[in-house]
Amino acid sequence: MPLLDSALNSQQREEDLASLKREEFDLVVIGGGVTGAGIALDGASRGLKVALIEAGDLASGTSSRSSKLIHGGLRYLEQYDFKLVKEALREREMMVTTLAPHLVKPVSFLFPLTEKFRERTYVGAGLALYDLLRGFKRALPWHKHLDQKKVAKVAPSLQSDIITGGIQYFDAQVDDARHTMLIARTAKRYGARIATYTEVTDLIREGKRVIGVKVRPEGGRAFDVKAKVTILAGGVWTSPLYKRFGLKPGYEVRMSKGAHIVVPGDAISSESGIIIKTPLSVLFIIPWFGKWIVGTTDTEYKDDPGSPVASKADVDYILTQANRVLTPRLKLSDVIGVYAGLRPLISSAPDSPTTKLSREHIVDRPVPGFVSIAGGKYTTYRVMAEDAVDVASAELRRIVPDSSTAQLPLLGADGYVALTNKVPLLAKEYGISEESIRHLLDRYGSEIATLLELTRDRPELKKKIDPKLEYLKVEVLYAVEFEGARTLMDIVDRRTRIAFESEDHGLAIVKDLVEIVAKPLGWNATEKKSQIEQFKAHVKNERIALITS
Ligand SMILES: Cc1cc2nc3c(=O)[nH]c(=O)nc-3n(C[C@H](O)[C@H](O)[C@H](O)COP(=O)(O)OP(=O)(O)OC[C@H]3O[C@@H](n4cnc5c(N)ncnc54)[C@H](O)[C@@H]3O)c2cc1C
Repeated sequence: MPLLDSALNSQQREEDLASLKREEFDLVVIGGGVTGAGIALDGASRGLKVALIEAGDLASGTSSRSSKLIHGGLRYLEQYDFKLVKEALREREMMVTTLAPHLVKPVSFLFPLTEKFRERTYVGAGLALYDLLRGFKRALPWHKHLDQKKVAKVAPSLQSDIITGGIQYFDAQVDDARHTMLIARTAKRYGARIATYTEVTDLIREGKRVIGVKVRPEGGRAFDVKAKVTILAGGVWTSPLYKRFGLKPGYEVRMSKGAHIVVPGDAISSESGIIIKTPLSVLFIIPWFGKWIVGTTDTEYKDDPGSPVASKADVDYILTQANRVLTPRLKLSDVIGVYAGLRPLISSAPDSPTTKLSREHIVDRPVPGFVSIAGGKYTTYRVMAEDAVDVASAELRRIVPDSSTAQLPLLGADGYVALTNKVPLLAKEYGISEESIRHLLDRYGSEIATLLELTRDRPELKKKIDPKLEYLKVEVLYAVEFEGARTLMDIVDRRTRIAFESEDHGLAIVKDLVEIVAKPLGWNATEKKSQIEQFKAHVKNERIALITS
């Protein structure tokens, strides 16, 4: 495979698995969520030999199920967590301007006020502090105060009889699953070996020292991978994996479930996102490609981390909280999508409520050759990765360069701004609408060139997958040939977000999608059928909370 190649596909997976069997690594990373992918990129870009091993698809855990905000976390100010907020705001600035401007976009939120003076002073002071904590670099506008009339203009859906005014501020948002996959592809570009659908089943040891891991790739035989340091970035799987490995953890990871619903664009009339305070936390109403994501909840969770689903109570709670300020009220029948995720929260006190647990992260080194990291937020993944690799590097007994990821744009970021100035030219060159070119640039950045080349010999791939969605057929092929998608679920749930964006979750188009990818993935008629069945079962399970009868 050529140096600097970032493609993830079946051939790459075979080659990387063969390399895992053969070679010894500086770092082997367990878990391909945003934290593990970030560690792989941090290590590989310091010149270390890195392997990233993920049991399922990239971002198939929490990292595809967040609120998708790149934010300081306004509510952490109330918990006096200034260090976390400041760090996250610095990361937000870097992502919007340098690291991933094609993916991380500014988004405004309106904080409606229901009382004239005291609330405005309190919230206004909080937002002034929020804006000040980001320091002198400012890609996003300063917050502003709005009177009742202006609020009614910006967000006609807010109940005018109870809203006395509002304050608007800016944060940023990202397609989390796409972003994590692009971090992994960037790590690949700098030499990391990446094996998805490969489970780490145990550690290998020499005395007390951990010298690698045992892995079981899907469709292959189990084997050992040798590494000087093993880093666990297992999110909510951390505590069960410590137990399986027979290690004593320096912390406990507790799970807190958060659910979101998705409603059509016309269900809420607003030019801005909305944030309201709830009894325990906050509720976000977030614009999402012509639709709205509304959430979230925060409830302790003790079941299987592999399959969190939203309950009827979760959906009721979200609707009730949103309807405190919205008119017309949201109804259960408005909901087109629903998803739930699990926050990995660090705890040393077993009884504290999950809403009060800190979102800061912890690095643990229980035995030589083994490091783990957990906690944190999506937004702070880069800092978490740097901290984990710093601790791991101390074991390598050689000089390891400092982290360079603060200056390392993700794949597709270079030239993105220049390309946005060439939309009409690109549209003409490839015979695609300007709207579609903009959609592609915000998903692939400068990688758009490779993607569009796939349509040269197959012009039928320039068509939309579904007239109601922006995705083109070529994106499905690209997902398999360059982005490591291996199942129908990977394509519909994570490379695209059709599973929660489409009113029928993509059920009407999955047959077409399967035909596009069957050849590169080597699927015969039985496998095609099985992929569709698995997807249907997944949709049924996820939507359980929406069944009314
Ligand atoms: C509802 C909700 C909303 C959130 N909203 C935000 C937000 O708006 N902004 C923000 O900054 N943060 C947010 N977060 C937090 C953020 O999503 C998480 O902190 C982050 O995604 C955790 O990433 P991770 O890589 O640590 O874990 P994960 O993404 O869960 O990754 C762990 C990976 O380990 C893999 N794995 C497990 N066992 C094995 C094994 N044996 N072998 C190999 N691989 C294994 C899993 O398959 C999984 O992919 C939110 C979280 C939730 C739940």
